[in-house]
Amino acid sequence: MIKSHDSPFHHLFDTFEVIGSGKFATVRRCVERQTGNEFAAKFIRKRSSTGRMGQALEDINREIDLLREIDNNYIIKLHDVFDCGNEMIIVLELVKGGELFELISEKGCLAEEEAVHYMKQILMAIKHLHDRNIVHLDLKPENILLSDKTAKRIKLIDFGISRKIVNDLDVKGLYGTPEFVAPEIINYESVNTGTDMWAIGCMAYILLSGASPFLGDTKQQTFVNITAADYHFDDQYFANISNAAKDFISGLLVKNSKYFTNYSI
Ligand code: AMP
Repeated sequence: MIKSHDSPFHHLFDTFEVIGSGKFATVRRCVERQTGNEFAAKFIRKRSSTGRMGQALEDINREIDLLREIDNNYIIKLHDVFDCGNEMIIVLELVKGGELFELISEKGCLAEEEAVHYMKQILMAIKHLHDRNIVHLDLKPENILLSDKTAKRIKLIDFGISRKIVNDLDVKGLYGTPEFVAPEIINYESVNTGTDMWAIGCMAYILLSGASPFLGDTKQQTFVNITAADYHFDDQYFANISNAAKDFISGLLVKNSKYFTNYSI
């Protein structure tokens, strides 16, 4: 049973090198003294009542609540939570294989068979979330970690802006990463599970080509391309890609795909 408790984190864990960082968070490898097991500790700076720096407590607690609800082999597992005054420490399963983003950067792009292998796991993770009315809202190759490079197993991370959809209206105006946001986010409309499926379409495009479907020279141009759903399968990248893969992407990069739930590949 996972529960927050007051025991100082540093009595129970030894902390080591920084393995990643987010806007208000630093992630370090740590070792639980009692068991010798390794974890990833996410130190999130809380926003003070006066200052602007740091993450609002409400948002941190939302991320923790969502992590507590999720239990899936393709999604990061929560181990423990420590409230340490000006920071919250979220102890997570440690994933050692690096980001999917790094793999694409190294290789340029993936063979179709390999891309399908990763996409299937990503879709299983997303189905688990959507079955619980949870939308991730920041799907991108940086948030897909590889737990084992040989077995090519993935773990989805970063529920910092994820939401439980109670009704459409209370989740308007959330921003993920420009390249991956769906038109409804730019248009300040309600988000839904289709918002994640759009990002899945962008990811599939990137895995297969190494290129980003909507990326412009400026953020503004990227948003114009997204709202027009203006993308192409350039021969340079897609000449040898199957029609099934292109159809999969075209089926996801659809405007107003409200409640779109095609998880198969
Ligand atoms: P986040 O703010 O959750 O996106 O985390 C920032 C970065 O830390 C990620 O992009 C990863 O590179 C790294 N990271 C986060 N969680 C873990 C984890 N459980 N295991 C290994 N690295 C992680």
